[in-house]
Amino acid sequence: PASSNHSNEETIALDRAHVFHSWSAQGALKPLVLEGGLGSTVWDDEGNEYLDFSSQLVNINIGHQHPAVIAGIKAQADLMATIAPAHAINIRGEAARKITDHAPEGMNKVFFTNGGADANENAIRMARLHTGRDKVLSRYRSYHGNTGSAIAATGDWRRIPNEYSRAHVHVFGPYLYRSEFWADSPEQESDRALHHLERTIQAEGSESIAAILLETIPGTAGVLMPPPGYMAGVRALADKYGILIILDEVMCGFGRTGNWFAFDAFDIKPDLIAFAKGVNSGYVPVGGVIISDEIAATFDERVFPGGLTYSGHPLAAASIVASITAMEEEGIVENAAMIGRDHIAPGLAALAAKHSSIGEIRGSGVFWAMELVADRDTREPLSAANMGKLKGALVKRGLLPFTADNRIHVVPPAVVTPAEVERAMAIYDEALSEL
Ligand code: PLP
Repeated sequence: PASSNHSNEETIALDRAHVFHSWSAQGALKPLVLEGGLGSTVWDDEGNEYLDFSSQLVNINIGHQHPAVIAGIKAQADLMATIAPAHAINIRGEAARKITDHAPEGMNKVFFTNGGADANENAIRMARLHTGRDKVLSRYRSYHGNTGSAIAATGDWRRIPNEYSRAHVHVFGPYLYRSEFWADSPEQESDRALHHLERTIQAEGSESIAAILLETIPGTAGVLMPPPGYMAGVRALADKYGILIILDEVMCGFGRTGNWFAFDAFDIKPDLIAFAKGVNSGYVPVGGVIISDEIAATFDERVFPGGLTYSGHPLAAASIVASITAMEEEGIVENAAMIGRDHIAPGLAALAAKHSSIGEIRGSGVFWAMELVADRDTREPLSAANMGKLKGALVKRGLLPFTADNRIHVVPPAVVTPAEVERAMAIYDEALSEL
């Protein structure tokens, strides 16, 4: 591959002089340089190579530099690189059609945004306008993005310094390993979480709640798999109280779990779906909302008061069409399911049998978390200092990890091979042994 012809030192110096980074105090940053990639591997220009088991921000589902996606973007750039959203352009309609091909019956329209946060932002706006209600119920232990309503709906520390709205109410969701409900079985956890949700709806006033917004599987919060009955129970409560369901599939959608959508594995049909990341693996920034026919009809006569200069950008649309086509033709979603079932699940189980620092493993497809503990009995989380050491040990051995709190998320691209998973498991094993 071509080289950028800059030393890492030069690139870091340029970055530190002029680039202001996300979610960080800027002073002590020393970002890792990456200049190229292919499939599940990334590299710098000084010969350092890494197995990308982070998929960057869990968004490169199709792997780095997929040739069909690059070609699709180039072809559209030659035809028409940009156009205002009010016009019709074939590639945009085709992108929306390919997305809705994988959505449930009765969800036929797509509003395109620039990413995941504004997908949630606009889904919330649609739910409020459709219901005439204003509150949004979401969960602690969630992330929905960094814009007004999306960050207020978020259930982690990032909400606190950004919270100006009181229309967002949070509940605890099911998480048996650290149950808020004193539960000792998945069924009990599910029943009690649903009871807590219903009591919150009643206490807030059900007629004031427009939507329940949930990551189908909370991602950054720890790949928290819904227990049996929970998702169906949420749908039943939403129907009982006339509340809409927005599923945030930004991280878990488009193949990540081994299904096209994560909710395909559960008994729930949403009213609105927020997507981004895996829809085109981030080759061009894009996200959007898949809208039920009923909600779309609300805006047949009434103006939808929302829009973006780059809504349905042709280069984004081309990358979506190429990406979904390649995923269909190359069986990439099926590969994610197979890798999860036959390689990651047994690989992590073997690591957990050997290392007492692994408290729990959970996930599906290429969407897994290892929850690390200082003590298996008390479940005390592994310290930040030890997590830092572990991260260093993994990078030193050529694996780019995704870490959050006391967890390593095992989230390679959906195109990852069994041999690459085997190599990653050996690296996790060595790093955990060193710890
Ligand atoms: N929703 C979920 C579940 C996410 O994981 C993220 C990003 O990590 C977002 C929304 C926000 O997406 P974006 O960063 O593209 O705005």
